[in-house]
Amino acid sequence: MFNTLSDRLTSVLQNLRGKGRLSEADIDATCREIRVALLEADVALLVVRTFIAKIKERAKGAEVSGALNPAQQVIKIVNEELVGILGGETRRLNLAKNPPTVIMLAGLQGAGKTTLAGKLAKWLKTQGHTPMLVACDLQRPNAVTQLQVVGERAGVPVFAPEPGNGVGNPVDVARRGIEEARRAQHDIVLVDTAGRLGIDAELMQQAKDIRDAVQPEEVLFVVDAMVGQDAVNTAQAFADGVGFTGVVLTKLDGDARGGAALSVREVTGQPILFASNGEKLEDFDVFHPDRMASRILGMGDMLTLIEQAEQAFDQEKAEVAAQKMGSGQLTLEDFLEQMLAIRKMGPIANLLGMLPGAGQMKDQLAMLDEKHLDRVQAIIRGMTPAERDDPKIINASRRLRIANGSGVKVSDVNDLVNRFFDARKMMSQMAGRFGM
Ligand code: GDP
Repeated sequence: MFNTLSDRLTSVLQNLRGKGRLSEADIDATCREIRVALLEADVALLVVRTFIAKIKERAKGAEVSGALNPAQQVIKIVNEELVGILGGETRRLNLAKNPPTVIMLAGLQGAGKTTLAGKLAKWLKTQGHTPMLVACDLQRPNAVTQLQVVGERAGVPVFAPEPGNGVGNPVDVARRGIEEARRAQHDIVLVDTAGRLGIDAELMQQAKDIRDAVQPEEVLFVVDAMVGQDAVNTAQAFADGVGFTGVVLTKLDGDARGGAALSVREVTGQPILFASNGEKLEDFDVFHPDRMASRILGMGDMLTLIEQAEQAFDQEKAEVAAQKMGSGQLTLEDFLEQMLAIRKMGPIANLLGMLPGAGQMKDQLAMLDEKHLDRVQAIIRGMTPAERDDPKIINASRRLRIANGSGVKVSDVNDLVNRFFDARKMMSQMAGRFGM
């Protein structure tokens, strides 16, 4: 899911990375590419328009032009808007003050309601609840048996109409199910309802009647994310016909384009609560808009890193340092300052661990030696301001004094000074190449 979209967006944003400043034309071009990527992923046009308009407005505003790194700022904006479209904050289930909490599941046949009932029940158990399932899908042959199988696997009781009593009335079954839950002291009741292959008036009426009878805290609209644009139309029909308080996306493990997932919340105004991503009972997650967005943008915890950097660095000082780097005038004093700012953000291994792809470098990261950084800090602190300002004056006798003063070997001081000169040279060459 989202692979193509994710690849496209990642490469659009990657193209920004090398850039120092962004012109209006850069922003327009980026927005055009994002727009195409979203449309190809089947995101509803209305949603794409709103999204692009917001990105453009923010990217062209002061937020970006005053930023230390405009490209990163645009990435941040795209991410924030994506999180917004996906619902912003993670939305938790509403629980009743007087149990049982009733949760009704609605959606088309085949959307994955029955499977979801089992997944949700199992998850609720791990959260310390005592759920019960009620089988109100009396239309589809075997639906009751299927729910009973799922319930057994999840280790949760199922209330169902007695066999041999004819088809029965789903509203009546729902009502009796809740009474039974109250009697047996289950704190949450999940009501599985019938779906049809397409939307029809009878289906809507039945769902509405069940809703009126059981007064649920939550009506969850279950939607198959693989059906594309149709998901949005179905969602709208259920919103108008029955009304729902939240959305569950199923089949997120499929390789479809995923636009539905990105549109449903914005179109219906109702949050996505859960995501189902496989046929097994464990293939189920609470839906976190922020994590989903960073998954789509393929950025690891890059965004946390950008935020931490914003907090740790003094923008003016960082700009001065960047200029000095570019012109080969960086001093050891600047170097020390930058290093202290970086270290304020936490252990270096953690910082690097947040970069995309860092998972594969775990072993190398573990070897990163904070003690080495302590030593570098101690050596620079052992220098006089004049030495930090112009490391060229650090001759043999000064090196000995610094080494003794900071408790290291002379070779360590040599090493640091030589590496500093090398790095300074490299930085100004790089700056020349990238036109900084
Ligand atoms: P209902 O008619 O809405 O109750 O749908 P079901 O729960 O019977 O699911 C329909 C089909 O979709 C079944 O074959 C399920 O195994 C499958 N299914 C449900 N959820 C998922 C999912 O998240 N991923 C995949 N791959 N299949 C799913």
